[in-house]
Amino acid sequence: MTALFGLDLKDKPILIVGGGSVASRRVRRFVAEGARVTVVAPHVSQDIERHAGHGDIVVHRRGVAPMDLDGAWFVLAATDDPVLNDAVAQWAHERQIWCIDASDASKGTARQAAMSKHGDLGVGVISLGAPDPGRIRAVRDAVAAHLDGGEVDLRRRRPGSGRVILVGSGPGDPGLITVRGRQALSEADVVVTDRLGTAELLVTVPYDVEVVNVGKSPDRHPVPQREINSLLVGRALEGKTVVRLKGGDPYLFGRGGEEVHACIEAGVDVEVVPGITSAFAVPARAGIPVTQRGVSTSVLVTTGHAGADPASIAAMAAGATVVILMGVTALPEIVRAAVAGGCDPETPVAIVENGTTVHERVTHGVMADIVRRADETDVKPPAIIVVGQVSQPGLLASAVAATPEL
Ligand code: SAH
Repeated sequence: MTALFGLDLKDKPILIVGGGSVASRRVRRFVAEGARVTVVAPHVSQDIERHAGHGDIVVHRRGVAPMDLDGAWFVLAATDDPVLNDAVAQWAHERQIWCIDASDASKGTARQAAMSKHGDLGVGVISLGAPDPGRIRAVRDAVAAHLDGGEVDLRRRRPGSGRVILVGSGPGDPGLITVRGRQALSEADVVVTDRLGTAELLVTVPYDVEVVNVGKSPDRHPVPQREINSLLVGRALEGKTVVRLKGGDPYLFGRGGEEVHACIEAGVDVEVVPGITSAFAVPARAGIPVTQRGVSTSVLVTTGHAGADPASIAAMAAGATVVILMGVTALPEIVRAAVAGGCDPETPVAIVENGTTVHERVTHGVMADIVRRADETDVKPPAIIVVGQVSQPGLLASAVAATPEL
């Protein structure tokens, strides 16, 4: 009978016999698990050479002998010679060492599980009958897709200490959250959110997960930051897993730093899951690369919340790409300051509203006319303003994009 175990390989001596592609894959895996790996083979792959060069593993370039197994906790027989693999498996058996025979799993005493990791969960699949690696990988992939797709309730059942996970939800399209972000949502007892755009992400959250919206709505002021902080800390101290879902990346004009600080101060465990920021993703989806060879080699991200700041005016005047968040209201003031600060009035400007969503709209213009154009189309937040040559309409379809070398 075969049982499935989780073995702690950290610092355990493991012997791999063979130096080909199967051995290389396993070396990578065992090194990642922290094992002390020794490889014995007359010839080894470049990959194994590289690991040896970095000092990750020990390699003996010669044929294997029974005494190589002495002291190992685990042996992998992965040569391309089934007879030799069987001999190694036999030597392991005599020494009471668990062994995987890569050429015939039924000859060894252990089987390699197809594995995937999902935050603090590991999934392993093995065949109980005839070995069929493609089949167990297919099962593993199906289970992994369910877990990473947020379709399994991953809330902790055993009471433990609470924690806060700050998750960047991406720019609006629910497909643009990270895999870890999705997993974190499946682990949440409480979700604290402030964006309408993330509503789609909450569809798979079970009904009894508490969802608190602390964002602005037409009839309500946003909840003050210190109240959000104490909500996060308070729920975590009750032993709950609290996911703080924030637009884009939590640290880019997202006040994530203050929330993390509040957790640290209260001694609450906190994890940050970076997100795809709207500053880069919204222009990208609208066909605007924020840097482009031969067009712009630097990009500055700023907020227009308090008008125009000298650093971004200087960057605009110098021809850098400047991405402005929260800049719709202050646009006229920013344009005035930019032109007064030496920015060419013909500099292209693009405004992307509701980027990456079905309501996305792009308004193109130049410094000299963008305020009028924005008025005409009645531009509204949330919007990203991109100033610089990269914003010219159709840039990627033009010859400029093909510039081979500078
Ligand atoms: N932390 C977020 C930004 C928060 S500030 C991030 O990394 O993306 C909020 C501003 O981001 C909005 O006022 C707007 O300027 C910009 N923004 C966020 N999502 C947007 C979207 N889908 N389309 C256009 N602008 C967006």
